[in-house]
Parts: sequence; structure tokens; C-alpha cells
Amino acid sequence: MSLSTPLAKLPRLQPQIAKKFAQLGLTTLHDALFTFPFRHEDWRQRVSIADLSVGQEVTIAATVVNISSRRAWRRRGTTVTDLTVTDDSGQRLHAVWFNLPFLAKNLKTGDRLYLSGTISAAKSGRRELHNPVYERPSDDPLHQRLVPVYRSVDGLSQRQIRLVMKQAVALAGAITDPLPPSDVTALGLISLPQALADIHFPASPTEAKAAVDRLKFDELLVWHLRLLESKQQSTGHQAPVIPFHEAEIRAFVQHLPFALTNDQRLAAWQVLQDMASAAPMSRLVQGDVGSGKTVVAALVAYNTALSHYQAAFIAPTVVLANQHWQTLTAMLGKHETRLALLTGDSAEIFSAGTAANVSRREVLEALAVGTVDLIVGTHAVLHGDVVFHRLGLVIVDEQQRFGVDQRQTLIAGRDAVPHFLSLTATPIPRSLALWLNGILLISAINSKPPGRLPITSSVYGPADRLTVDRAITDTVARGEQVYVITPLIEESDSLGVRAATGEHERLTETWPHVRVGLLHGTMPAANRIAVLDQFRRHELDIVVSTTVIEVGVDVPNATLMVIEGAERFGLAQLHQLRGRVGRGAKPSACLFVTDRDDPTVRTRLQQVAATADGFAIAELDLQERGGGDLYGQRQSGLPAWQLATLNDRQLFNQVQSYTTGLNDQTRARLIKSLADSATVPPEFHPE
Ligand code: ADP
Ligand code: MG
Repeated sequence: MSLSTPLAKLPRLQPQIAKKFAQLGLTTLHDALFTFPFRHEDWRQRVSIADLSVGQEVTIAATVVNISSRRAWRRRGTTVTDLTVTDDSGQRLHAVWFNLPFLAKNLKTGDRLYLSGTISAAKSGRRELHNPVYERPSDDPLHQRLVPVYRSVDGLSQRQIRLVMKQAVALAGAITDPLPPSDVTALGLISLPQALADIHFPASPTEAKAAVDRLKFDELLVWHLRLLESKQQSTGHQAPVIPFHEAEIRAFVQHLPFALTNDQRLAAWQVLQDMASAAPMSRLVQGDVGSGKTVVAALVAYNTALSHYQAAFIAPTVVLANQHWQTLTAMLGKHETRLALLTGDSAEIFSAGTAANVSRREVLEALAVGTVDLIVGTHAVLHGDVVFHRLGLVIVDEQQRFGVDQRQTLIAGRDAVPHFLSLTATPIPRSLALWLNGILLISAINSKPPGRLPITSSVYGPADRLTVDRAITDTVARGEQVYVITPLIEESDSLGVRAATGEHERLTETWPHVRVGLLHGTMPAANRIAVLDQFRRHELDIVVSTTVIEVGVDVPNATLMVIEGAERFGLAQLHQLRGRVGRGAKPSACLFVTDRDDPTVRTRLQQVAATADGFAIAELDLQERGGGDLYGQRQSGLPAWQLATLNDRQLFNQVQSYTTGLNDQTRARLIKSLADSATVPPEFHPE
């Protein structure tokens, strides 16, 4: 067995389980080794049944008193396995598993086992364990320790993941550290193989932290080196000189349904200036959610077309590509710009005022001969078989790493490269801005379009259910629309999906006359697009969604955002979600709803409710994470680090001073070996 061994070849791993791993982007043990847990649970503490309290994460050593399986009468097809155990205290504890019928056959009265999980309170008030992990004393202990928790998919248990991780970690020694040992020591870090083993199965929180620091360092290092490299690479290149077509752009601006804000004008002007020179542009437009970045992109794409160069507008998801397609055809269609859409699912060409479905081939041909000026799509547009007639500008929207990778793809092997523009809502702290300086230039859109009313935000607890429901019905009665967001409980989508489905059912049953739609990441993309289209056309009053709706969705008639289980979201994420409303001229509201009756939970949510300043919230968010033990929580729009966050300022500085001391050769070698040791997270394929 080696790191390149496919998971499908592992002994005792069934093919359908290997498929689940593939959904997570894991096909080999190497992938597994480099897929990090997002937190650890501390199950070292052995607790007596007599001393358990609700909410505690525990491991107990117990003896089976009784075990049985039955069919649940309410949920068809579900089997429930009931277990009663006892320990030295003589007291009993009840545990329940769903859909694990074989357990009742594997365990019998008198068996000794360890049970690990979180204690919850049943309706009766009795303390229980739901779906606990169990181990026999003879097993190689996976669970009586700091236990890693991984992102998962429905049908793949943490236990199954941990078993594979254990095998991967056993091979961590085969990884070569790209940094020389002397540098590792000088930097106060631990070796890469050590860090890889410890991040999965640390012996202590201190060990976990040392592992995380080392891996974060590598993530930031490869990212920084790539930025430096891409800057260097573009210096030898030429981009097309695209002048400012003043008259046409003025006409374009006059035809917009609104006046551009000063910040929008300035950003557009900076981009146009850059593009009028042969030095390849590399610019980032940063603007909070709803600040109006799309129109800036549309304007500069139009200017590109006027010089008979092509532009590509890349969206992070199929759903957003479709939204941009609608916005851009509406904005540019009347200016005789020829547009095409290309995603994994669809290909369309817009001409003479209407969009028509065509084959992928037709779009490719049109791009190659130059009869398309602007292509809108997902990153599929940048793939090898897509040939452009005269590509002048690439725009990347809300992409991780600010599109640096896409830019790299475009530059590789070409003399003439397009100009490059990325758009992001992620607030960029000063420290990072300085880091980026000279690599990516930044234009900021700080002001919102005029006439936007502030979004009224408030926090509601378990006792306020009626108020929340009334806010929903009132909004619908006014002819406006509502988002209801449900959380993902772990980073596994399944629970979030269940929550969204349940809420969808509840609302549909409560208000039969209200049109309620459902949206989540495991739906096929085409269905998601259809639901959003219906919502946009106001054929739906409410859409219940998981966070797939997070970035970029723009429906100005939606004026109420209800965030259920708000305490489960990061502060910055709450702010991003809130940005889906307040996009039109009508007053909007955002309700942070929590079922926890806990003052600290409320206070935390109040912080976001009290301010609309994205930068201030980002700052709070970073402070919050700095204190907690949650690592690698993904923030949309950020570079695709698994672990590092913009909060890691000290590491940023450390990386920067380290790279300054390296010669070109060493840098190139490091990029290569760091890329091989791939701290880049694998792609997640929920569809
Ligand atoms: P984001 O920056 O989050 O991508 P969008 O580009 O989607 O924001 O714009 C949000 C909404 O604001 C859109 O409905 C857009 O038409 C509108 N908008 C953009 N600029 C202005 C403006 N200057 N005045 C009024 N509305 C604007
Ligand atoms: Mg946007």
C-alpha cells in the first residue's frame, strides 16, 4: 500500500463507500492525507454515567444491558436501534442509532464497549446518546482521544472516514518535506510529515496547533510564491492595448436604469486606464455585497468588445453564471454586443434580442472565429479546448484565491495574454492589501448605490416564532419576497438539506396559498437554476435554501431574509447572507433566528445586527476565530486555503520575510514541491 493507492482498492472498503469518498474529492490515500479535519472533539475524558450532563462530549466505558432493533412507525423505512448500557456507577444510559440494523446483530448483552458522542436530552428529559460512535476495547482505538471531524456527505460516517484517515496517516512518512530541516527549525515549525500525522490524530491540543501552524505556513507560502511568480511571468508579456471608447461608454452609462456611483466610476476608470496599456492588467475590484460590481465588469467588457477583442466573464457556479447571463444580456444585448453562455450544462448564444440554446460546438466555433464578443460561463470556459479569436479581457467573479489560478492558466504558454480583472466581496484587511500590492492592484467600491435603505436587522429567540412568521406573511402580503436560510449543521450537507426540506414542508403546510421553493446544493444544477429563475420572476414568494444561495444572487424584490439557526454561522457569513436583501429601493429586513435561549448567543448575533459595515464585521469574525479552536472554516471568496485565514497575520509576515530571502531557483523548486504536496483542498462535488 502506498499513498497513490486508490481508496477503492483498500481492503474492506465497499465500492459504494469509495464513491462517497469520491464525492468529497478523495480518490487516493494521498488525497485523504491532505484533507484536513475542520475541528477535533475531545473524547479523552472518560466520564461515569452518573456524572453526565447535556451537551457534553464524552466517552464512556460501558456494558450492554439490552439491544434491539425496530422499524420506526412514523418515518417509513427507518430502523431504530435501541441500546441500554450500564457502567461502574450502576446507572443506565440509553443510546439510539438510526438505520444501522446490523448493530443489533453485532452487539449482545454483556459486551463491553466504549461509546463516544454528545449527550443530548430526550423529550422525556432523559439523557441519551444519538448515533454514538462505538468501539470494543480490543479495537485499535480511533476514538478515545482527540477525534478529528471531517466534512462529509450523506451516507458516509465519520467513523468510516477516520478509518481511512488512519491508513493514510500511517504513510505520512513517505512525504518529503519541501523545506530544509534547518529552515523548519529556524521558523519554529514542525516537519511536514509530522504535521500531516498530527493534524488528523493529535495527542493533545498543543500538538494539533503546531500541526495547523505548519500546514497554514505551507498554504500561505505556496500562495505567495505563486503571486510573485505570476507577477514575474506577466512582465515579459504583452496584452492588447484597448483604448477608452469614450462616446460609446457615455451612451452605455446613460442607458443604464441608474446613475453610477462615484466609486463605480472610479473603479471602471482605473480598469480602463490599465487596459489602455500593453502591460497586462491584474486588478481586483473589492466591494461589499450589493455594491454593484457587475455593472463595472459589464462596462469594461463592452469597451473591450468595441475594440474587437473578446471578453470572458467567469462565475464560480452554474447558478451565478446563469444570473450573470441574464443581467449581461439585458445590459449589453441592446448595444449590439454578441454574447454566449457556456457552462457544463448549457450553451446559448444571444443574438437579435433573444437567447437560443445551441450546441457546445457552436459556441466554441463562434468564439474561435470571433463572432462572440462576450462569453459568460463557469471556469469550463478556460479549458484547453476553448480557443478564442482575440481574447482581450478575463473577468473572474467571487473566485477563491481571487482568481490567481485562472490567471495562471491563461498566461501559461502564451506571448500575448489578456487583461485580468477579478471581483470580490471579501473585505481585504490592510495587511493583505499590502501583501497583494504590486501583484494585484485593488479598486474599492466603498459606497452602496444611493437610495438603498439600511437593512433592519434583529435577533429573535425561541419565544419569538410568531413574530418571525408574521414578518414572513406580511412581506408576502406586500407582494415582496423572502429568503429563509437554514444552516449546515456540520460541514456535511446532509443535515442542512434535511433542515431546508423540513422548513420547506412546514411553510408549505402552514400557508398553502404561498408559493414556496426549495434550494440546496445536492439538487442538480439545472433544478437550482430553475428555482432561482422562478424566484426572480416572482413565481415564488419564498425560497427556503441552504447557504448555496450565499454569494452573488441578486433579486431586488426580495426584502426579507430569515436566517434560521443563526448561531451556527460565522459572523462574516451572516453579513454575506444578509446582503441578498436590501438590493432595491424598498426597505428590507434581516432576522437572525436562534432556537438557543442563551444570552451569549444573542449578544454575538446582536453584533452583526448592530452594524452594516462589512469591514467591521470581518474584523469581529477574525477576532472570534482567533479565540476559538475552529480552524479552516471556509469563507467564501477567500483563497482556497484549507486552514489559513486572513487572520493569520503573523504567519503572513513570516512567509513574506521567508520568501524575500529566497532566490528564483529555490522559489521555483518550492512552488513545484509544495504544489505536489498539495495543500490545495480537493474539489467538492455535491452534484
Ligand atoms: P455585487 O457587487 O454584490 O455583485 P451587483 O452587481 O449584483 O452587486 O448589484 C446589486 C444590485 O444593485 C443590482 O440589482 C444592480 O442592478 C444594482 N445597482 C448596481 N449599481 C447601481 C447603482 N449605481 N444605482 C442603483 N442600483 C445599482
Ligand atoms: Mg456579484
